Amino acid sequence: MMELTIYGRGGQGGVTLAKLIATAYFLRGKEVQAFGLYAAERSGAPLQAYVRVDDQEITNHNLIREPDHIVVLDRTLIGPNLVIGLKRDGWIILNTPEPPSAFADRFPGRCVATLDATAIAIAGGLGTRAVPIVNTTMLGAIARVFDLPWSDVEAALDDLKFGGPNIASAREAFDKVAHARLTGTAVETTPASSNGRVAGLLDGDLGARPLIHTGDWATHQPERQQLTPPCNFGCPAGNDVRGFVEAIGRENHNDALAILLKTSPFPGVCGRVCPAPCMDACNRSRFDESVNIRDLERYAADHGTRPEPIAPWRDEIVAVVGSGPAGLSAAYHLARLGYPVTLFEGAAELGGVMRTGIPAYRLPRDVLGEEINYILRHGVAVSAGRFLSRADLLRLSHEYAAVFVGTGLQDSRAMNLGAAAKDFVEQGIGFLDRVRKHETRLDGLSVVVIGGGNTAIDAARSALRVGARTVRIVYRRTRAEMPAIREEIDEAVEEGIALDELVLPLRLERNGASAVLTCQRMRLGEPDESGRPRPVPETSEDAQYDLSCDRVILALGQTSNIAILPEGSEIHQDGALLGLSGGPIFAGGDFATNEGTVTAAIGSGRKAALHVHRTLSGENLFPPPAGPVAEPDVIRMHLFTHARGEHGAMIAPADRRRTFAEVRLGLIDEPAHRPAATEAQRCFSCGVCNACDRCVEYCPEGIVLRDGDAYRFDYGYCKGCGICASQCPRGVIYMAEL
Ligand code: FAD
Repeated sequence: MMELTIYGRGGQGGVTLAKLIATAYFLRGKEVQAFGLYAAERSGAPLQAYVRVDDQEITNHNLIREPDHIVVLDRTLIGPNLVIGLKRDGWIILNTPEPPSAFADRFPGRCVATLDATAIAIAGGLGTRAVPIVNTTMLGAIARVFDLPWSDVEAALDDLKFGGPNIASAREAFDKVAHARLTGTAVETTPASSNGRVAGLLDGDLGARPLIHTGDWATHQPERQQLTPPCNFGCPAGNDVRGFVEAIGRENHNDALAILLKTSPFPGVCGRVCPAPCMDACNRSRFDESVNIRDLERYAADHGTRPEPIAPWRDEIVAVVGSGPAGLSAAYHLARLGYPVTLFEGAAELGGVMRTGIPAYRLPRDVLGEEINYILRHGVAVSAGRFLSRADLLRLSHEYAAVFVGTGLQDSRAMNLGAAAKDFVEQGIGFLDRVRKHETRLDGLSVVVIGGGNTAIDAARSALRVGARTVRIVYRRTRAEMPAIREEIDEAVEEGIALDELVLPLRLERNGASAVLTCQRMRLGEPDESGRPRPVPETSEDAQYDLSCDRVILALGQTSNIAILPEGSEIHQDGALLGLSGGPIFAGGDFATNEGTVTAAIGSGRKAALHVHRTLSGENLFPPPAGPVAEPDVIRMHLFTHARGEHGAMIAPADRRRTFAEVRLGLIDEPAHRPAATEAQRCFSCGVCNACDRCVEYCPEGIVLRDGDAYRFDYGYCKGCGICASQCPRGVIYMAEL
């Protein structure tokens, strides 16, 4: 944007000159704005007029305090204070008979152009001798200085119906204006208000800012703050959610991916399987609908390019045990910090539950494989195929500078359903692993799944996909209390899986080739120690009933097997194992925290890497504690417009029941519609300035100033009206009491 201020006196045509300049640019296809400050418009009284020119729509309408260029129509207004706020390379275009060099002392280092517009206007009969109208003449001079062709001057004059001597005078000025960059020594400027008199708001001697510092009257003044966006606060991996969403809004997918990769090596995985606590925290959910952050994360992973990894450069080697999301995240972050890492995994393949538990219709194996490969390309060595013992772990602690243990939850909870169980019952985790290895089919069978977590839902949906005739989930509480991801429950029901709520299986008995599962109806009682309502048995006559089935899958949760931990050790709050000799051992992921999500395991692995780094190097790279969160009440929601969220495409339920093809397809661009960018632009950017400029546009005094991406307030003239704060949609500007 180009901003120009004209200083003149009433009657000289300053406001019309602003219109003429704007018209010249408008006729070239630019967006323009021209207006005057009319408070003192009478013959001879000083006035100011303003012009803005830009390629984009101009939305702010306030006074120009820091112009790119200035034009002075009256030589009596030429003074040193004119240049206060003027951009360093801006032109000072003066109506004066003196050459530019005459101003070397007053405007050293500045670009000055001069023209005796008064003489030309008088000779052309424009205005009177006492008050010549110099606007059209000065237009010619300005056009030449700004490199506008003469034809633009003619077009502007013609558009505003100026003819005859106006054209001749403008042409003379166009040919005669002298311009130069001046050198010279700086001159002392005495503050204009120091002369002891009371200055007018538009003081003739000053020709610039008001002499009265109206900011002195203020009782409040605006301040800026950065709050923590609730999505960032709610992300267990520590992702800068707002930041990557903003980058997608700019359609910069590499930036978006780079932001995510700072904290997580698994944006493609999390963009598919994360329960997305960030979306629960999203303030937009109180307005219309949460931003679809999960699909945006997936979009960033699928569309961004990963930067080339750097090889480790440090001497201290680190061992990581367990290649679930916790171990892989720890390995990734340690490698990025420069440590050579060896990853020890008991199974033949890497990935932990991401590979053995989460089915391919939710997490395609090529997506997982690509993200694991990227981690390994950071110079991470792998030793797979042997589960380590307690003795192995102690040995590693002596061979490596530090050890991280992320061995997950290895033991499944059991349920005593009687002797027949051994022929009909299997554990969900084992079932899912066998399904992925194509080792089991359930063609034509009736299957009952017991449980309410992710394993139960995944086992039920997988059972359907390996041929089960009917699948029924029984859960002792209600759907609302099921720990499984909500969307997964919905999708299971859409696929035709029955859900029996408030049901507790009691015993299983053989019935020919099939079985009968006797169940107890339950109701919700008082909350238990987990805070959830405790299921208590119904006592009515029909409180028990039988379900016939061919197979029962148990999905009652898992617990960690601490047999790997050295005797006498205990897990400290930061994951460190205390009471051991050798290098430090840290534990994390579900093994240590049982938080039960991929994203929490990623965050735990990253924290462990930072702990290891601090222990080995003394350097603390932990991010500072999060500042206050941008709660819904600081967001000015009325300043936003409602917009429906973009949802990713999905395979129809009928088509997906028998296939492991990915169910959700994510946000897909079309030639005329780019849903990811549209969705990202729904983000409120809670508590973080995104340079929307409303504060600049709405400040009636023009004292909110933008320097590149930064903003500042000219407190000298800020009366503390609070309009900027009331117009800041995201709670960044607030009014502080003085
Ligand atoms: P794990 O993923 O369990 O990895 C531990 C690794 O350590 C394994 O590879 C194991 O083989 C290895 N290991 C164990 N002992 C040893 C040893 N002695 N020596 C060497 N290696 C060893 N979370 C979500 O966020 N979204 C979901 O959609 C989701 N779905 C799930 C579905 C299922 C069926 C299950 C069971 C869990 C699901 N979860 C989901 C939870 C999530 O997968 C886990 O919270 C997460 O994987 C825990 O990561 P981790 O690294 O701590 O452990």
